[in-house]
Amino acid sequence: MSFNIAIDGPAGAGKSTIARKLAKELSFIYVDTGAMYRAVTVYLLQNGIPPEDAAAVEKACGNIHISIEYQDGEQQVLLNGENVTGLLRTEEVSRLTSGVSAIGAVRALLQELQKELAAKNDVVMDGRDIGTNILPGAQLKVYLTASVHTRAVRRYLEELERNGEADLASIEENIAKRDYQDMHRAIAPLCQAEDAVLVDSSEMDIQAVTDAIRKLYQERAGL
Ligand code: C5P
Repeated sequence: MSFNIAIDGPAGAGKSTIARKLAKELSFIYVDTGAMYRAVTVYLLQNGIPPEDAAAVEKACGNIHISIEYQDGEQQVLLNGENVTGLLRTEEVSRLTSGVSAIGAVRALLQELQKELAAKNDVVMDGRDIGTNILPGAQLKVYLTASVHTRAVRRYLEELERNGEADLASIEENIAKRDYQDMHRAIAPLCQAEDAVLVDSSEMDIQAVTDAIRKLYQERAGL
């Protein structure tokens, strides 16, 4: 049976960095489910479908096929066979995906793929509803969070490095808005699973968080 580690939490808590690092250390695969939701948004933008029009998005879902593959250990997202990994991290896609992911048909489209990956592989899977909905039987669940300000500063520094400019106030506002949307949607809202371990990374660096989760894994796996 595969070993599943579920890491959920709000945007900017460090989930993807930590999940990727941990997966590498444990020789598990890292599954970034946010990237799958982002790829749906890319499809909508590329095809002129308004992301806020739930009926149109639902209809479009029939034409969307998302799959993943790994290149040098890095997850690549294929949208109808085309690698769209490089298009997923724009501010526009980040802003719109929170609304897109609240649509039931979009969640239904992606959940089978996520469950299948975890059934077949040892995974570290990160997202918003992995411990609560996708992998309720995961052997280890972590809810990783940090204050809104800490998370905004982290994103600000990333963006500054990438683009040479960034606006902290607007990043903080967008993060707070995304948190609210993700936590208050009707289907699979972001919340801590009852049996998840809460890790607040506000005062911890990446290595400290990774070490803490690895230790939990070793305990659960009886190593
Ligand atoms: O994690 P990331 O920021 O890439 O996720 C983008 C968006 O996708 C989130 O704001 C959230 O609305 C949605 N998402 C989700 N369920 C997941 C992963 C991401 O609803 N399992």
